[in-house]
Amino acid sequence: MTNSMTAAVIGGGIGGMAAAIALLRAGVDVQVYEQAPEQKEVGAGIQISPNASRLLYRYGLETPLEKCGVKPVAIERRRWQDGRVLSRVPMGETVVGAFGAPYFHFHRADLLAVLVAGLPGDRVHTGKRCTGVTQQVDDATAHFEDGTSITADLVVGADGIRSAVRTVLLGPEKPRFSGHVAYRGLAPAERLRHLDLERLSTAWLGPGGHFVHYFVAGGRYVNFVAVTEEDTWTRESWTDLGNLEDAHAAFTGWHRQVHAIIDAVDATYKWWLHDRNPLPKWSEGRVTLLGDACHAMLPYMAQGAVQSIEDGATLAACLKMAGRARVPEALRCYEVLRMPRVTRVQEMARGNAVGFHLPDGPEQEKRDAALSAAAQDPVKAFTALYGHDAEAIDSFNT
Ligand SMILES: Cc1cc2nc3c(=O)[nH]c(=O)nc-3n(C[C@H](O)[C@H](O)[C@H](O)COP(=O)(O)OP(=O)(O)OC[C@H]3O[C@@H](n4cnc5c(N)ncnc54)[C@H](O)[C@@H]3O)c2cc1C
Repeated sequence: MTNSMTAAVIGGGIGGMAAAIALLRAGVDVQVYEQAPEQKEVGAGIQISPNASRLLYRYGLETPLEKCGVKPVAIERRRWQDGRVLSRVPMGETVVGAFGAPYFHFHRADLLAVLVAGLPGDRVHTGKRCTGVTQQVDDATAHFEDGTSITADLVVGADGIRSAVRTVLLGPEKPRFSGHVAYRGLAPAERLRHLDLERLSTAWLGPGGHFVHYFVAGGRYVNFVAVTEEDTWTRESWTDLGNLEDAHAAFTGWHRQVHAIIDAVDATYKWWLHDRNPLPKWSEGRVTLLGDACHAMLPYMAQGAVQSIEDGATLAACLKMAGRARVPEALRCYEVLRMPRVTRVQEMARGNAVGFHLPDGPEQEKRDAALSAAAQDPVKAFTALYGHDAEAIDSFNT
């Protein structure tokens, strides 16, 4: 790839890896620098909607994704106490027909493994913790804790919610604690056979909380995320053990299925949920951001990773159109195209933080009516989100 544009992606998570694959396809000579000694994801599930799975299919990843992914037949919302179905939106063939790719559930480690396998191994460098970025007129340099550095035509910060690259561009700022905590767990599916669970994405909505569950890992496990409200946060780690009794207590009075699923796990983990306010900019010169580094959001639209995959596709398309001589213009174009869409999704996620947790009463009844109405025409309801083609940029406009 002599004379091709070069890019250094900082962070080898879902966003960084998907972006690296997109950049390589666009002819960019890309290298990924990951701080951890090996690329790892936590033991939890993730939902990937067609606006991202369609891109991953185009990247040639259809076969491995189909192998480990679970395709829900519908998304269901249920009432916390009596289990009444508030809405049922068909997924399956309905979304494939309308949007060209499936809605998927994955074990996070499976999804990351597919992305890692989708990029030649010599392009990923582990044990490389980025400590700073500098830039010159014609290139940018990422500096690492081990004293080394790498210079490329552009540097992309895909280094998550506590992004070092973001701090370089915008200064230090703590993420915002949402007041919500999530208990999460993975239950072997055979322990829940007595519930006769359908292949759904199910969200139970109730006062002060919601409870989501779905199958992952080819159907071998049921993943749950149980969100409740707490005033304070003490720690932030995907690997803090939660107490099963606390998880049950947070859902006192909720339907027995919720408790049966909590009962089926050996351990639960507790996660204090943070997001960030929309940023005034994502790029400067030859340095830009993607994924949680620039738009960490609450998980209530199941779109954080999805939007990071979209980011990578748009970034690659802008760079391809601009060419090596116009990298800063390409990064501006990327930002102009992506910021309004992602900001809207961040806002919708914050809206769901309130809407999902309404106490019973007139507001909750209004919400339930709206959910039911949207389910009457699911394709219409989802077109803005799932129909968006992040690679399709018709003009280069900064
Ligand atoms: C409970 C919960 C449920 C969720 N469910 C969904 C869902 O269903 N669907 C969905 O789309 N999203 C979901 N999300 C959001 C999703 O997990 C994130 O948006 C997504 O993982 C962000 O990916 P990323 O690559 O931007 O960041 P990360 O996954 O954080 O990856 C960043 C990578 O950068 C590395 N790194 C960090 N700092 C440095 C450094 N200085 N130098 C080098 N490397 C560095 C890290 O080690 C890591 O590998 C959920 C989030 C939560 C909390």
